[in-house]
Amino acid sequence: MNKPAELKLETVPVWINGKPLAPAGRHGDVYNPALGQVTKRVVFSDSHVVDSAVKAATAAFPAWRDTPPIRRARVTQRFLGLLQKNQKQLAQIVHEEHGKTLEDAMGSVQRGIEVVEFACGIPNLLKGEYSQDVGTQVDTHTIRQPVGVCAGITPFNFPVMVPLWMFPMAIACGNTFILKPSEKVPSASVRMAELFKEAGLPDGVLNVIHGDRVAVDALLSHEHVKAISFVGSTPIAKHIYETAARHGKRVQALGGAKNHAVVLPDADLEFAADALIGAAYGSAGERCMAISAVVAVGAAGDPLVKLLEKKAKAIRLGVDMGPLVTCQHRDKVASYIEIGLKEGAKLVVDARSQECPKEGFYLGTSLFDHVTPGMEIYKNEIFGPILVVLRAGTLEEAVDLVNRNPYANGTAIFTESGGAARRFAAEIQVGMVGINVPIPVPVAFYSFGGWKSSLFGDLHVHGTESVKFYTRTKAVTTRWPHQDTPAPGFNMPTLG
Ligand code: NAD
Repeated sequence: MNKPAELKLETVPVWINGKPLAPAGRHGDVYNPALGQVTKRVVFSDSHVVDSAVKAATAAFPAWRDTPPIRRARVTQRFLGLLQKNQKQLAQIVHEEHGKTLEDAMGSVQRGIEVVEFACGIPNLLKGEYSQDVGTQVDTHTIRQPVGVCAGITPFNFPVMVPLWMFPMAIACGNTFILKPSEKVPSASVRMAELFKEAGLPDGVLNVIHGDRVAVDALLSHEHVKAISFVGSTPIAKHIYETAARHGKRVQALGGAKNHAVVLPDADLEFAADALIGAAYGSAGERCMAISAVVAVGAAGDPLVKLLEKKAKAIRLGVDMGPLVTCQHRDKVASYIEIGLKEGAKLVVDARSQECPKEGFYLGTSLFDHVTPGMEIYKNEIFGPILVVLRAGTLEEAVDLVNRNPYANGTAIFTESGGAARRFAAEIQVGMVGINVPIPVPVAFYSFGGWKSSLFGDLHVHGTESVKFYTRTKAVTTRWPHQDTPAPGFNMPTLG
């Protein structure tokens, strides 16, 4: 790009204490992946900017914590209305910065909005427990209190939905929040902060900073940040979990995935193939719940691969499927085609022979058959439009194969047998399971999260687990003495 054009680029600001700011310092490029061009710049936060965001969130915390939940719910309700009104605009931003098609972006924004609907019920969700007469004239009740300043660090692939998994619930619970979205897709987070302010959210309750490791490390080590939510790749999730825990913070860190679909011979193969095509290649495979490995059991194998081949070849680039997020990521994904061939897998559909739009970071669909567990194309999260098929003799073998994989985000089984499906759901060591449902993302009033290397921490996002993550429980034991109440004793009280 030449200099004058660069000067005209819009700068995506940080959002601190209810205002956009564009401090001088390091910047990053924001691309439109469909055009392959830099369209904006984003300011990268250093530790001073992070500190001013934490100061704003710390100052706003006491008043927001003491705002009755019903009033916090009303602000959330107005935010919900504004998100619905601006859904198309938000989806357009996602489409432009991430590259997924507009329809796909609309669906992802909708799934985020559903978490805000759930957050509107916060007075009910914060109800504690009460037991009368836990001892003579003694009662106990519990209260849920916010933890303080919370921070969220999010990946590039869902610029609206994943941030909405975090800050609406944290804020409804009475916390204040600092969001650090992916530097590749920064604009939607700032727009959501504007909308929340318009809904009546006091300044400082939600802040947005941008940047890379510098900004994240400043959050992880800041003494006034009490809890960290993270979604991204497994190596970074592990780093976040270990560093935040070392600094005494509560942390949930969701990592990467290799999601398997097991297809039994009794399944409706046409239905299964349609489901798998959307789950594997939708959003160009850049979904943490994408199906990237199919385990075809017994006689399902050959006819299923034939159907997948036909359907994968019919996907129109630039119409049904968008580009990958960056040129580097596209090239890395494409390199797995050569790797798979060298490893001896059978390349059934080859992206390299497909017509691609000239501009942008596009890559067509690829399908490998006869993949084995030792191959790199199976072991790695490719995060692109490459689907691999492994063969298994029996359901037991398929379950064993899935359970040996270190990732455990989502999985699905396709079958007509209730018994087989029930057994699969019971025995599979994976956090989210679909039965004839290829992408089993739980609705907002259930919690989302994987097991093993797909989650570091104990609590999942949204649903009731998010209320537990963003609050601390306090147990209060009460006695109002009468004249005949015995005096408290010297030994360990048993209250009876
Ligand atoms: P990423 O791990 O590269 O980045 C995620 C976030 O961490 C970004 O905000 C980024 O700026 C920050 N970051 C990157 N490197 C860092 C470092 N060294 N230190 C501190 N912070 C750092 O992930 P991505 O490429 O943006 O997103 C894709 C990944 O996210 C995939 O692995 C995908 O499976 C995963 N993902 C998981 C889920 C889930 O629910 N489990 C959901 C969406 C995406």
